Amino acid sequence: MTPERIRLGISACLLGEPVRFDGGHKRDPFLVESLGPLVDWVPVCPEVESGLDAPRESMRLVQADGRIRLLTNKTAQDHTTRMHGYARRRVEELANGELCGFVLKKDSPTCGLERVKVYGTAGMPVKSGRGLFADALVRRFPLLPVEEEGRLNDPRLRENFVERIFAYRRLTALFAARWSMGDVVRFHTAHKLTLMAHRPEAYQRLGRLVASGKSVARRAFQDHYSTDFMTALATIATPRRQANVLQHMLGYFKQTLDRESRAELLALIEDYAGGRVPLVVPLTLFIHHIRRCGVPYLADQVYLRPHPVELMLRNHV
Ligand code: SF4
Repeated sequence: MTPERIRLGISACLLGEPVRFDGGHKRDPFLVESLGPLVDWVPVCPEVESGLDAPRESMRLVQADGRIRLLTNKTAQDHTTRMHGYARRRVEELANGELCGFVLKKDSPTCGLERVKVYGTAGMPVKSGRGLFADALVRRFPLLPVEEEGRLNDPRLRENFVERIFAYRRLTALFAARWSMGDVVRFHTAHKLTLMAHRPEAYQRLGRLVASGKSVARRAFQDHYSTDFMTALATIATPRRQANVLQHMLGYFKQTLDRESRAELLALIEDYAGGRVPLVVPLTLFIHHIRRCGVPYLADQVYLRPHPVELMLRNHV
């Protein structure tokens, strides 16, 4: 059974829990106030859950003897083994949690996803590391949408992440049931415009996979389709590709919409491509005409509503 609401893992300090090394938190207003009402959070603080106190001595990643270690800053206590053991156990527990994504605290030697400082024996730190828990998480769930809260301040990355968590839920729901190739064809068809906005070639490639699906072992097919689908969506949908999708949609109105209305849609597509209006503007008019004229193929496209409208994510891309 797929839960009604999206379940997302999160570094607990981002929700305002006082679990940081200094006893404070890093409450993130977008996550708590905007996304929060639409999802169920699964808060995780690896440092506290692995037995450390809050407050505690701060830590950092240190490269020594060819290994990355998690050491406290002043007294050099080594928490590497403790954290590796905890992370291995915790990600296995999370495997049963039906998570659709995870938001991690940036820069943390435990939770940071990328560009975490790694100190050597001398000199300046290099921003090349990944927190130990974050590393265990992405290795265990390679397709799970995972982002840092800092990157979610970028409207395009934010929209992409939220789109992916909802897509991941639909994908896992598809393959959780006893699926048929007909179910996959319907899923793939409904995501045509979505895939085209991200990676048009992936839509074609996955289409060929679906067409040959009956000759492929079910598990191999599922893995292949899921990996290619989620990888495609991780590519940011550029304005040029979005405009191509809108042009493609316009083609469906040749018979049903008068010349003036089509010209109005075209002008809005050009305004969007030129950066004068956000994506929500042409899309809103498209949705109006789809409803009015009845274009079932377009009406069934996930692209029209990939995530809850109340987040207003397409007002900023
Ligand atoms: Fe805990 Fe991770 Fe936040 Fe550090 S960054 S306080 S380990 S949740």
